[in-house]
Amino acid sequence: MKAAVIKEAAPGERRVALVPEAVRKLTTAGFEVLVESGAGARAWHDDDSYTAAGARIVTRAEALAQADAVLTVGKPDPAAVAGLHKEQVLIGMFAPLTDPDLVRELAGSGVTAVSMDLIPRTLPRAQTMDALSSQANIAGYKAVLIAAAAYGRFFPLLITAAGTARPAKLLVLGAGVAGLQAIGTARRLGAVVSGYDVRPETRTEVASLGATFIELKAVGAASGSGGYARELTAGERDAQQAELAGHIGQQDVVITTAQVPGRRPPLLVTARALAGMSPGSVIVDMGASPLGGNVEGSRPGETVVTENGVTVIGAGDLPSSMAAASSAMYARNISALLQYLVSDGALAVDLSDELQAGVVITRDGQVVHPGLAPAPDSSDGAAPAAARTAAPAEPELADSAGGNTRVDGPAH
Ligand code: NAD
Repeated sequence: MKAAVIKEAAPGERRVALVPEAVRKLTTAGFEVLVESGAGARAWHDDDSYTAAGARIVTRAEALAQADAVLTVGKPDPAAVAGLHKEQVLIGMFAPLTDPDLVRELAGSGVTAVSMDLIPRTLPRAQTMDALSSQANIAGYKAVLIAAAAYGRFFPLLITAAGTARPAKLLVLGAGVAGLQAIGTARRLGAVVSGYDVRPETRTEVASLGATFIELKAVGAASGSGGYARELTAGERDAQQAELAGHIGQQDVVITTAQVPGRRPPLLVTARALAGMSPGSVIVDMGASPLGGNVEGSRPGETVVTENGVTVIGAGDLPSSMAAASSAMYARNISALLQYLVSDGALAVDLSDELQAGVVITRDGQVVHPGLAPAPDSSDGAAPAAARTAAPAEPELADSAGGNTRVDGPAH
């Protein structure tokens, strides 16, 4: 069984799907591992370190031609997809719910495509394969470091001969995997931390990290399915934004992490809330996306300073900015999934298995994931099966693989 790592296609991506330590474990488990020359360079792993771990360094063409399993972090480029074939499995994070064109291309290549970001995260046996969590953990940590670097004062209380510095007040909005890591990291740096989320079960998690949970009077619980939040109604959203603005105005630093699967990130920090913050305060928006973020006016990878002196940082690809750590964790995730898909040294894809059915998106030239295939009873293609079967996907976004993906979030 040959597994190949190819260089990442996305501009600026520094991560690599396998690190040498993972190569060593896979070769011990009986895999032959091929690594495209230079694939690990931006995560600080040179070709020699892979060779020492038991891998064979190859060209891109050799990797694609010889591998039974092709491993990536993100989406492959069209040239790589064109080099794939029916007997292979391709594993990576492909965001298929929002990229129907890629899903179509993958189906067209005949490859069995497996998208790590669709792993049913609540299955205990999927924990070691949960790349969304491993990468979100890193992102939450890095967001705090970015905030601390941009903030012109101290996070901890400092009592010195030159005066006393009060600790920074820091609020984390959204207390999922990234948010809880951000809270823990900010606490370790000495900030006075509070947290907020629409899922009431996060109250004890926030408190257990030594932070204060902010209760909003105007918004009730908004838990959705699978441990995720549901989208708020327009009325709830307006009330949330208005009440949060009062809390935000008291903070030195705000880190936003709120997401609703398959939806545009919710807007939590309005221009009015920004206007209420003090000069020198800092916001890191981890929800920043081309579709809009948690903070009004934020842009991914860009920093803006508002007229009243608030630095708004739209987080870019934070896991990629810590490529050595994120690649090591991702390599464990993808190795676990690869080994799960193999039996007696050969690929053994079984779509009757809940975990595999959750992640396999194309097979034998077809789109096979129920969240991506058109519903059998929908002749106009308007009601994708995703609406009923893919827990993390909201119906509006998880359109049929042949249709256009829509983002129907309300205008902010
Ligand atoms: P996520 O990235 O989808 O969202 C981040 C956070 O934003 C969530 O906590 C969500 O509740 C919050 N949020 C959404 N809309 C909001 C709004 N309008 N206002 C405030 N907060 C809002 O979530 P995630 O971090 O990937 O995972 C969330 C949860 O999923 C976890 O905390 C956990 O409960 C569950 N999960 C379970 C497992 C498991 O069972 N093994 C693994 C991973 C995640």
